[in-house]
Amino acid sequence: MTDFLKGLNPVQHQAVTTIAGPVLVIAGPGSGKTRVLTFRIAYLLSQGVKPSSILALTFTNKAAREMKERIGHVAGSNASRVWAGTFHSLFSRILRIEAEEIGYPADFTIYDTEDSKSLIGSIIKEWNMDKEAYPTNGIRNRISSAKSNLLTPKAYEMNAEQMANDAASRIPQFYKIYTEYVARCRKAGAMDFDDLLLQFFRLLQEKPEIAKKYRERFQYVMVDEFQDTNFLQYGILKKLTLYNGSPRNICAVGDDAQSIYAFRGATIDNILDFEKDFAGLQTFKLEQNYRSTKHIVEAANKVIGYNKRQIRKTIWTDQDEGQKIKIIKAINDTEEGRRVIDAIMELKTRDHLPNHEMAILYRTNAQSRIFEEHLRRHNIPYKIFGGQSFYQRKEVKDLIAYLRTVVNYRDEEALKRVINFPKRGIGNSTMSQMAELAAAESITLWDALVKAGPLTRSGKSIVKFIEMMNGFREKTETLNAYDLALWVAKESRLYDEYASDHTIEGISRKENIQALLDGIQEFTESDEEEYTGEVKDKSLASYLQNIALLTDADEGVDETDFVSLMSVHAAKGLEFLAIFLVGLEEQLFPSFMSMNSQDEIDEERRLFYVAITRAKAHLWLTFAQSRYRYGQMRYNEPSRFLEEIDTDNLEDTGGMVQELEAASTPKARVGGAPRPSVQVAASVRAIDPATFRPSPSNEIEAGMKVLHMKFGEGEVMMVDGARDNRVATIFFKEIDNPERRIMLKFAKLMIVE
Ligand code: ATP
Ligand code: MG
Repeated sequence: MTDFLKGLNPVQHQAVTTIAGPVLVIAGPGSGKTRVLTFRIAYLLSQGVKPSSILALTFTNKAAREMKERIGHVAGSNASRVWAGTFHSLFSRILRIEAEEIGYPADFTIYDTEDSKSLIGSIIKEWNMDKEAYPTNGIRNRISSAKSNLLTPKAYEMNAEQMANDAASRIPQFYKIYTEYVARCRKAGAMDFDDLLLQFFRLLQEKPEIAKKYRERFQYVMVDEFQDTNFLQYGILKKLTLYNGSPRNICAVGDDAQSIYAFRGATIDNILDFEKDFAGLQTFKLEQNYRSTKHIVEAANKVIGYNKRQIRKTIWTDQDEGQKIKIIKAINDTEEGRRVIDAIMELKTRDHLPNHEMAILYRTNAQSRIFEEHLRRHNIPYKIFGGQSFYQRKEVKDLIAYLRTVVNYRDEEALKRVINFPKRGIGNSTMSQMAELAAAESITLWDALVKAGPLTRSGKSIVKFIEMMNGFREKTETLNAYDLALWVAKESRLYDEYASDHTIEGISRKENIQALLDGIQEFTESDEEEYTGEVKDKSLASYLQNIALLTDADEGVDETDFVSLMSVHAAKGLEFLAIFLVGLEEQLFPSFMSMNSQDEIDEERRLFYVAITRAKAHLWLTFAQSRYRYGQMRYNEPSRFLEEIDTDNLEDTGGMVQELEAASTPKARVGGAPRPSVQVAASVRAIDPATFRPSPSNEIEAGMKVLHMKFGEGEVMMVDGARDNRVATIFFKEIDNPERRIMLKFAKLMIVE
């Protein structure tokens, strides 16, 4: 029965079979952490553990699917009944059952990032607040981080430190927006992505009976990529697995050196806390890398050595040396694209690599376009993960908004989207009136429409709209998701609206609507829930719940053979025979936004480490000496990370290795210290924080003298880009490497004259 355990080394074997009590595996990339979790589940099943009592939390739904497939190979059909998925998908499933316990409707809507931003935007507009000072994106991130730190609006307002912080950042009204945002989501019966965690946490916190039920249900809890869980996720884990101080069966695996979500609140502290919180913890260290060849493992070890704050690990491989890492230095980004595709062609013809064994990774999604163009020209199938995803396209969102309104009439963001599309003569002014009424009487927008809509100028149209929607709603009782969606698409005239547009764009919109309907049909055709294997709920509400959680990295991919394109963030946990890591330039990777502190550079380096350790056998690192960014041609220096790799591991392509050798002066290398460019010379005059008052970024212009807390005094030489993308070139005379390009949106600069 347990023959499959032979595929494990002794430490892995131990980690797999130690099923009682808390277990932690901290180990480097490719050492088999995910494999340990997979085998552990198979092992539990072979010991007679019920699949539904196993909870396995993965980073993406794709990872969960792959895990189930692998478990399926060793444990058979039982695998599909294991609760494996992301924190968001699994907990939203439970919330659907328990939502009413904490005051939400059972058919609550999930607001995606766009919905949240749109809601924040309308609050700011209604309150006539300064849009520049309160950008929707920034406010959303702030709300998200408050939620992830368990700060309710009330707690936020009472928190003197937060309030002082907001005052200093010139957003003293933030807490009011936060309060209103939370109130409106509630009124709309909606949860945003953070709520799926926060409300689940509340459920466990406030309803001991329910907490007990799930503690008893999930006898074995497992977490992959533990280094990237945030405070709230960790809080949930503790609620599920610690009771009266006695830890239950939990196994967390991760790698602190691959922690890349500090900006979302993931901290190394979770790993350290885990050791403290879970008494009797058994820790396992895996040191053998099974994924990559020697050159790649050596390069990775060398680079990560530059980060000081990490749990030291040795990683070795008994694979061959393999091929050296190749560097491509291109004149510009177009040439970078061409040469990457040339290399892909070569791998295909000479080494017979299938497309799906190759991936192009970049730091920012915007870099994908050039590679797409070249891939298309060569007829190489590819798939983009992230970026403008299918579910973000207008027509797809339109139909989904209709369906959301049908399921939950309180869903205000969806209602606003469909009320006058296709056009039915219900104008903005009528809708503003309705919104005011809803606010004044504390009723939902829908109720305001029902109550006062018929009396407005657009009365007739509103009555028709309400009748139509009520008609749809009645059908939810009898029709499954697909039949209902088809009906809605036709009756609302949405389908005709797009079908009557014969431009190329119109045709593709119609195709997208069709593709969405196909997807819904597929959903209704299978009988089992994807992650839990339970009998499927084929209702529209259940479908909507499913797609709301599809992250960009998870989109349904046709099982054809394609090259993958994705950001480094999205590549975590994956592996490919060949990796092309592109855009290795200072200011791009490491990102210009990380130039202000060592911690940020370290995070970029971890990201670089994640990227290169995805490669099994072939690794290309490429950079362009010039490229257009923010509407201007820029000349770039190669990324510092290139210089951190030992030249022994690099193949000399066109004198690059000598260049890099020359660049890495011994001085810059001492004790693993970063290059001087990130160190600020000691001579910067100390600035008293008490008198430092950052000026609004939109006031900063060329010719001004400014102060920066770390870099001291500087002169603004040039400002380019517009609005949120304004970038200043500033000469700070007191530091080494005095010329800095600074994104004004994030900079704290004080105008001196
Ligand atoms: P990451 O940190 O990148 O997520 P990981 O530690 O989760 O990496 P896995 O993805 O589990 O590593 O394993 C890397 C590769 O090595 C996989 O292809 C896996 O099947 C293989 N592998 C792991 N352990 C063994 C083993 N004992 N024998 C053979 N192959 C192994
Ligand atoms: Mg893994």
